[in-house]
Amino acid sequence: MTRRFSNLIGGQSVDSPSTFLSHNSSNLEDVIGEFPEATLEQVRDACVAARRAAEAWGRTPAPIRGQIIGSIGKAIEREKEALSRLVSREMGKTLKEARGDVQEAIDTCHFFQSEGRRLYGQTVPSEMHRKELMTYRRPLGVVGIITAGNFPIAVPSWKIIPALVTGNTIVWKPSEDCPASSYAFVKLMEEAGLPEGVLNVVFGGGAGAAGQFLVNMIDERDERGRKRLDKFAFTGSTAVGRQIGEIAGRNLLHPTLELGGKNPLIVMADADLENAVSGALWAAFGTGGQRCTSAGNIILDAPIAEEFTRRFLAATQAITIGDPLKYPDVLYGPFINERFFNSWQAHYDWGKADGATLLYGKGRITRESKPSGFQGDPTAAFYGWPTIWADVQPGMQLFQKEVFGPTINLVRVNGIDEAIEAANSVDYGLSSACYTNNREWAYQFKERIQAGMSSINNSTTGAEAHMPFGGVKGSGNGTRESGIWVIESYTYWHAVNDDISGKLQLAQMDTDYIAPKSPFSVAEIDGV
Ligand code: NAD
Repeated sequence: MTRRFSNLIGGQSVDSPSTFLSHNSSNLEDVIGEFPEATLEQVRDACVAARRAAEAWGRTPAPIRGQIIGSIGKAIEREKEALSRLVSREMGKTLKEARGDVQEAIDTCHFFQSEGRRLYGQTVPSEMHRKELMTYRRPLGVVGIITAGNFPIAVPSWKIIPALVTGNTIVWKPSEDCPASSYAFVKLMEEAGLPEGVLNVVFGGGAGAAGQFLVNMIDERDERGRKRLDKFAFTGSTAVGRQIGEIAGRNLLHPTLELGGKNPLIVMADADLENAVSGALWAAFGTGGQRCTSAGNIILDAPIAEEFTRRFLAATQAITIGDPLKYPDVLYGPFINERFFNSWQAHYDWGKADGATLLYGKGRITRESKPSGFQGDPTAAFYGWPTIWADVQPGMQLFQKEVFGPTINLVRVNGIDEAIEAANSVDYGLSSACYTNNREWAYQFKERIQAGMSSINNSTTGAEAHMPFGGVKGSGNGTRESGIWVIESYTYWHAVNDDISGKLQLAQMDTDYIAPKSPFSVAEIDGV
């Protein structure tokens, strides 16, 4: 029997009139559970519950909040293997990758547990006597969160954990692609002792459903005229991020927007080609290209372009693909959903229209058309051939647009200047990589690349929980996740002055500035 799940609002399980099913991405007949499509009223109720809990949670001492974050980390660590299997089944990534997804949340908890004992403010000298100046970090209040499904644990943890430790309450709408993984994550957070209403979860889709209802809450005020949401944090496509940015802007709310990418990987003439090919293969096809940090364009310096292409093609032909739970050694599994498969299918038309050369790849993997390394039943889910395009130029839509599937472009350039120019000519700037051992070229790349994250002699993917994650241009609005940097997104600075003089002292007016004496001239000593 299919298990039914509920929204979690104010500590209560709440069902919705409509539901949707979550499937095993590698075997679409395997239903994981039935989830509610939260209604507008339920999304609003979740905001009310979060508002009700905000005052007490915001005033809970930060070290105590940190202790709860530590307990969340321990609960996830205990359930790591089971949660990783659920993520692999629901989302379709390999078990090794799913363990990494879950581990990132554990690392994030470790980091932010101790942040509860820091959250430093400053004491600052005043212009006046008997007056003290201080700064405090204050919570923003109620945070609306919407996330994509390709990292169902890591990416939500990057938002939820720092938002909680800094004293905010939350309404989270997880991706409809991974509701079961999200539910499990929330239950582990609840187990750690979060008070009722601090973390509320509403399930459902995006446009015209729970996602859009939650975004609409940015525009709404309660009966006392107070905003329903004080902050919004979104990870997903650039198109939806723009819509959220517009609504947030007119409400003077500063959103966190972590969006798409079309990431360049440059291979220079002197690169270690074996290392570059393995990094490029992972960047292009790891997770079936369904990472925001997947490589989109491999930019090849002319002297090694042919040799790199030969080796890269051979490595691609040797990839194994299939059901990641049954065949743990596959490089990648199925598409997360049919929508991603359809948009990836459509990119074959762009390539043709662009006049690029299809070097490898034949669309959907079927019983009749499958790469030699395919394992399992290709009809059980949506699987795609690893696809390579050659003769791609910066102006082409193949070069410019994010595909989010197993496909990669090869672009030939002459030298580091052309390589960086090509890399910078997309309207995204999330991740980037350059393979070279020439210090000058590496320096040029580091200084001139337009990206939030860069690797030298490493792939475009791979975040660590204590480094800032985020992009520039179409990849976001400049906010950062992880490490100390994310704290800026969930707090505001409160400047306080405490005057013990017992009289009115005015800054810049009642101040004993020292008057300068008459000017001294060094030339006088020299008798000039
Ligand atoms: P998407 O924007 O379609 O969906 C993401 C989330 O937003 C889902 O929860 C969805 O239900 C919701 N949503 C969709 N339309 C909405 C709307 N109109 N109003 C409110 N909510 C809505 O993204 P996707 O296509 O599912 O995910 C892939 C995209 O996410 C890619 O562009 C990828 O690069 C990006 N991504 C970025 C990061 C990052 O950290 N920068 C990480 C993962 C994925």
